[in-house]
Order: sequence, then structure tokens, then C-alpha cells
Amino acid sequence: MTKRLTQNKVNKYVLGDGCECPICGSTQIEGHEVEIMAGSAFQEMSCLACGAEWDDVYHLVGVVNKKNGDIFYADKVEG
Ligand SMILES: [Zn+2]
Repeated sequence: MTKRLTQNKVNKYVLGDGCECPICGSTQIEGHEVEIMAGSAFQEMSCLACGAEWDDVYHLVGVVNKKNGDIFYADKVEG
């Protein structure tokens, strides 16, 4: 097994909502500190099974109305 990230492994990881290690496929993964930046967030991640470390990348996609919990997702902006 390749011990490094590949585009294919990252695709599978993201499509699976980040529930399995992108290196070994274990579900024994942990999320750590989150760093928020303008429009993005990064979370340090690690795998207890194989020791891999990586950061998850999050993008701002919408907002929650605090009064009723409704979630508004931004429409895709062309260009
Ligand atoms: Zn792993």
C-alpha cells in the first residue's frame, strides 16, 4: 500500500465525508485544532491506525439563520 496521499485517495476521502483515513482506510481517525481563515478553515487530522497526519480543508458555503436554524447555501457564482 502506498503511504502517501494521491488525488484518487483524496477524492474517495472527501466523497466519504472524511470518515476514513485517506492513507489506510481506517475509521480510527481523530480531528484536532481548527484554524479559521477568510472563507476557509483547516483542521489538523491524524490516523491512530497508521500514524498519518493531514489537514482537512473546509470552505464557507452558507450561513445558518440563528432564529430558526434554517440553512442558506450560497448559489454557485459563475466566473
Ligand atoms: Zn491511516
